[in-house]
Amino acid sequence: GAVRRPLVMANWKMNMTPDQVEPYLQQVIPEVNKDTGADVAVAAQDLYLAQMVKETAGSRLAIAAENAHWTDDGAYTGETSPKALALVGVSYVLIGHFERRKLFNETDERVNLKTKAALKNGLKPIVDLDEDLSAYAKEDKKTIVLKQLKIALEGITAEEMADVAIAYEPTWAIGSGEAASAEQAEKSAEFIRQSLVNLYDQQVADQTRILYGGSVTTENAADFLSQEDIDGILVGKAALKPESFLKLIDIAQ
Ligand code: PEP
Repeated sequence: GAVRRPLVMANWKMNMTPDQVEPYLQQVIPEVNKDTGADVAVAAQDLYLAQMVKETAGSRLAIAAENAHWTDDGAYTGETSPKALALVGVSYVLIGHFERRKLFNETDERVNLKTKAALKNGLKPIVDLDEDLSAYAKEDKKTIVLKQLKIALEGITAEEMADVAIAYEPTWAIGSGEAASAEQAEKSAEFIRQSLVNLYDQQVADQTRILYGGSVTTENAADFLSQEDIDGILVGKAALKPESFLKLIDIAQ
């Protein structure tokens, strides 16, 4: 996407030990600070976020949460408040990641509530849309992705969309080592962008970043990033080693 600044996001998931956090960040920060054209963020489990914000203060590396609740505070034992995340200095939040949907029963309706709560607090949501192969038998994948997109964005204004990014992740490609082809991924990204034209307008569609996620590696990243409608990558496994994440950042710049 020519007008859209690429976004490269690491998703550590429930990985990394406390002693690995600082060395990883120290290795990545100098490269990111050269700012040759991409936004870069690392999503980590809540436990590390405050420390990560401190260690990246004044740098161009942004910190992301992997999930957040849909209300600011209250009796929700074990959950994390979007208000608290924002006050701690977290910039982005993943909403509706495939693993949240599949393993923790996150519904489209909750994705919508969480996206709105994130925006209200000044967090930038990355709304994850997944394509579940098992659902293909009943509905075609475009129907599934469109339904997820529509419900996720219900009640979100065109102005608010300036802070929203969409991640397109085929479930069969996540953590499987089997990425989608760049052509398949571009077709879906193009479909999502066209859907944004229909839901909002051309301007919103043109400005919204659409990321591809699912077994991105240093070998295939350039293919995805060179596609017209793919504006970034969401990377799990290949971002766990700072050397490999640095290569991905390099490719995106
Ligand atoms: C992800 O966590 O969203 C992801 C795409 O993981 P992986 O890169 O390991 O497939």
